[in-house]
Amino acid sequence: MTDKKVALVTGGSRGIGKACALELAKAGCDVVINYAGNSEAAEKTVEELKALGSNSESYKFDVSNQAEVDENIAKIIEKYGRIDVLVNNAGITRDDLFIRMGEDKWNAVINTNLSSAFYVSKPVVKLMMKQRSGAIVNMSSVVGLYGNPGQANYSAAKAGLVGFTKSLAKELGSRGIRVNAVAPGFIATDMTKDLGNVDEYMKMIPLKRMGEAVDIAKTVKFLALDADYITGQAIQVDGGLII
Ligand code: NAP
Repeated sequence: MTDKKVALVTGGSRGIGKACALELAKAGCDVVINYAGNSEAAEKTVEELKALGSNSESYKFDVSNQAEVDENIAKIIEKYGRIDVLVNNAGITRDDLFIRMGEDKWNAVINTNLSSAFYVSKPVVKLMMKQRSGAIVNMSSVVGLYGNPGQANYSAAKAGLVGFTKSLAKELGSRGIRVNAVAPGFIATDMTKDLGNVDEYMKMIPLKRMGEAVDIAKTVKFLALDADYITGQAIQVDGGLII
């Protein structure tokens, strides 16, 4: 048990999720991270979080598997007693042109990027309703707002998260729970390291650089901890990529 705010970041071991975890720890939260398989990265992130004074642990489970989610969220609640901030961040891409896209790629992305938010939020919202407070931030994408060729599965999942965010915001506002989304543009992480056409993207980005994970993390921290009168929003953080 702890007197500090407790934050759970799914996919918090690498990339954007790791940056969110570090930013929330710097702001005084005890941060719990989840990851899928890369234990080495998760352990390293937990060490960095502990160095910031956070009572941190990592939990390995597949956010697209409801039974694993339920089992692990129950363990986290037993250990920490409360969850004040949930960042539904874990996500994957399985890009292909729609005409070639098989059901395997469709289901993998919908389950990992969208159904996961349903599974993870369910037990966490039950707890936040008892607490009568909490903040949820869902990691969408600009492609969920505007679409992208080769990403019908990913765009659908990320658009779904925006609808999920707005509906939960309306259902849970009276219980003291705020729900928002962040829609990142082109952010430098493992997910984007093999993308081509970087020069083409640069031409379209008014701020003339790829985003850094910390750019997203600062917005997540703002929405989670500071934005007391903001709920139901999807905030684009994309250097002006799409205006
Ligand atoms: P990343 O570097 O590939 O990191 C993904 C993280 O999610 C890792 O911690 C990974 O764990 C975890 N993860 C993946 N599948 C999981 C599963 N089934 N269960 C639990 N954890 C899982 O990705 P990123 O670029 O930081 O992206 C983070 C989020 O931002 C994603 O939702 C992504 O769609 C979104 N986003 C990214 C960009 C971008 O340009 N990078 C733009 C818009 C939106 P392991 O380390 O164990 O694999």
